[in-house]
Amino acid sequence: MRYRSTRGGVRDLSFTEAFLMGLATDGGLIVPEKIPKADLSALKKLDYKDLAFEIFKLFIDDIPLDDLKELVQKSYSAFDTEEVTPVVKKDGVYILELFHGPTFAFKDVALQFLGNLFEYVLKDRNTYINVLGATSGDTGSAAIYGLKGKENVNIFILHPHGKVSRVQELQMTTVEDKNVYNIAIKGTFDDCQAIVKAIFNDLDFKEKYRLGAVNSINWARVLAQIVYYFYAYFRTDVEELYFSVPTGNFGDIFAGYMAKRMGLPIKRLILATNSNDILYRFVNFGDYSKGEVVKTISPSMDIQVASNFERYLYYLFDEDTSAVKDLMDKFLETGVLKFSSDVLERVKDDFESYRSSEDDTKKTIKSFYEETGYVIDPHTACGVYAAKMSNHEDVICLATAHPAKFPEAIFEAIGRYPETPQAIKDLERKEKRFTVLDNSVGEVKNFIEKVLTT
Ligand SMILES: *Cc1c(COP(=O)(O)O)cnc(C)c1O
Repeated sequence: MRYRSTRGGVRDLSFTEAFLMGLATDGGLIVPEKIPKADLSALKKLDYKDLAFEIFKLFIDDIPLDDLKELVQKSYSAFDTEEVTPVVKKDGVYILELFHGPTFAFKDVALQFLGNLFEYVLKDRNTYINVLGATSGDTGSAAIYGLKGKENVNIFILHPHGKVSRVQELQMTTVEDKNVYNIAIKGTFDDCQAIVKAIFNDLDFKEKYRLGAVNSINWARVLAQIVYYFYAYFRTDVEELYFSVPTGNFGDIFAGYMAKRMGLPIKRLILATNSNDILYRFVNFGDYSKGEVVKTISPSMDIQVASNFERYLYYLFDEDTSAVKDLMDKFLETGVLKFSSDVLERVKDDFESYRSSEDDTKKTIKSFYEETGYVIDPHTACGVYAAKMSNHEDVICLATAHPAKFPEAIFEAIGRYPETPQAIKDLERKEKRFTVLDNSVGEVKNFIEKVLTT
């Protein structure tokens, strides 16, 4: 399989090259040149790891199969159940539990694999990388757990000092591995992001210290997420297949779209948003226009610009790279894209979308708990709300985080705290390690320099 950019400026990459490039050098996103068809009957009986291996094989042909198999084994042994992503049925909806990884959120599914892949590829090429990123909580901890202890990799993660949740802070800062550097910035998440962006824009510095990213646009992350759509389908017995996906950057739901194009008989994907509704407006009205980010109890969906959306545009416009480039240039300039009714018709063949207000989200947590005794987190609740609004039977709802990550929101909704898994309790006794720095690009650069040169 070869890879190319959605904007046409990069082509004929191998999987490994695509993985290491991350964002395409022409500013686009990397996509496979063809979408392979999956043989459903051959995949049906496989356990999670074998299924992942078979699906990865369709997209990766430059890693020896024995090595790939080992990478998959290693990555998914880090989950607390052999099933990796179990499916449970509650009150007429299926819940696809994606939170059995080390940080209790679905990003582990991709980042555990990514961490092992980084180590493998970098060792193979006899090189190293220093990953730099900013987090408001979830991505940072999943990235740290993916990369901690890996050879040929260091990871520097900036978070806003005192402004991430207690569980997230514990998860990030109690890691003991020497290659993990937590930097608490005296500022906001936006300040952290601005610092990271400024450092990446200093190309000399970036080159000198071999800086890289693990953000959600890496093709390998999308690839890892395709697997559980197949896995869930094989473990349910539904007449018409709908998935409801709590959506932020469009990464998770795009993986579902890929699964559909590979032949999984998905009728439609239900795109669930919170009040940050740019994607809801796109699917319903053809209006993709940037607004202000509002803070909600489902913070991992608090985005306005969906970084993976460009991949869908590429397919919506029949792989026409110049059309994608024009659209993205226009969006960068104006912050607005409007789509015609015939384009919108095609969007609606693949997606439907519902938006959950804060009140809807809390009420959904409450009613679901009262009816089933099962506690869902606020992100999952947006998806369950959307599934109810859709009126389809037997929707498979992606549960993207464990409720214990958001105890305050759960308490507000149902009047009691969710049970804390032992692994989170264990963190409370550990020492936190982080460095507090001013909101200053120079200070962060000095810190990185000092760490890497002494
Ligand atoms: C990241 C995240 C999402 C959103 O996923 P995208 O791939 O950005 O659409 C939803 N729920 C949780 C808990 C997350 O961490």
